[in-house]
Amino acid sequence: MIVKLSRNDAETRQAVSAALEAMGAEVRCLEFPFGCFLAGLGLENPPLKKIQAMAGVAWARAAGSKPILAAREQNPHGSLVQLGRMEIGGEALALVAGPCSVEDREQIFSTARFVAAYGATALRGGAYKPRTSPYAFQGLGQEGVELLKEAGLEAGLPVVTEVMDPADVATMAPFVDCFQIGARNMSNGPLLKAVGRAGKPVLLKRGPSATLAEFVLAAEYILLEGNAQVILCERGIRTFETATRNTLDLNAVPVLKSMTHLPVVVDPSHGTGRRDAVSPMARAAVAAGADGIVVEVHPDPARARSDGEQSLHLPEFRRLAEELRPVAEAVGRRLDLPETLPFAPNQVPLLRRAPGWGGSR
Ligand code: PEP
Ligand code: MN
Repeated sequence: MIVKLSRNDAETRQAVSAALEAMGAEVRCLEFPFGCFLAGLGLENPPLKKIQAMAGVAWARAAGSKPILAAREQNPHGSLVQLGRMEIGGEALALVAGPCSVEDREQIFSTARFVAAYGATALRGGAYKPRTSPYAFQGLGQEGVELLKEAGLEAGLPVVTEVMDPADVATMAPFVDCFQIGARNMSNGPLLKAVGRAGKPVLLKRGPSATLAEFVLAAEYILLEGNAQVILCERGIRTFETATRNTLDLNAVPVLKSMTHLPVVVDPSHGTGRRDAVSPMARAAVAAGADGIVVEVHPDPARARSDGEQSLHLPEFRRLAEELRPVAEAVGRRLDLPETLPFAPNQVPLLRRAPGWGGSR
């Protein structure tokens, strides 16, 4: 059962917790900007009326197969998630950009510098990579996490990176501003609990075959650990279509907004799998009400070690940002871009690499 307190003082919390414990529940106190809740877990038929009647209790609800904490009604104005200097879910749009994988120092530092100069608000880059083939590049691991953080610090951007194993959360945490849960792990309960307990923002990607109801319940796992800093990310679903890698489900944006109070961002890179479709679908996502865009960018996509075919060249990232701005303004949002560029787009140096790195998924 979930209990919302109307009075958040130690006396109320203690009295209600004691009553829940006496019924045999495991009790958690969850304090969010939108209210204080007590979760009483493990009760089959909770005596709601008894708890409801206690002083300082606003309401008590039986927890079932529907989200409670992530539900829109808990915070009808919408929640904000602070990432670096930016509040995701506010008027300004978030632009999370970076390579699919952190590959080496030069690649991540040059990307970080450029995307920061071109208007990104956070730097992304995978170090633990969930590859479809076990023979594909698996990422640099912790070394990649630390390189990403170093590059982010130099460029003045917070960093977002995927965690795949609950055992890695503690080692990664000092170097990570936002943990990403990848699409393949959306319903991995132990991982959701572990990032929930880490107390940092979480970018939760929708599973390729997850319904929106399942997606929001995955977010509920994180909230139930006391962490409401969850950003939902639509990244395309599996359909019969083969011309694109996935089908970007922009229905998800308005529908998730009506289901939850959490910010919703869109990843048109994985959603389409094709560079030529990334900017148009980013604009469509902003028009649909997304709170931000997550986009893959690489200084030399032809030689990227993963997802090269969907990664934008650096000048294309600036163009995307400039094309997004009027769309943002048309729907009452803002995109804050640096007015002066330290590099002209045609001066962006390409990295020279040995051939044969391929651009596999
Ligand atoms: C990624 O962001 O690089 C990634 C692997 O995304 P997804 O989990 O959405 O496939
Ligand atoms: Mn990728």
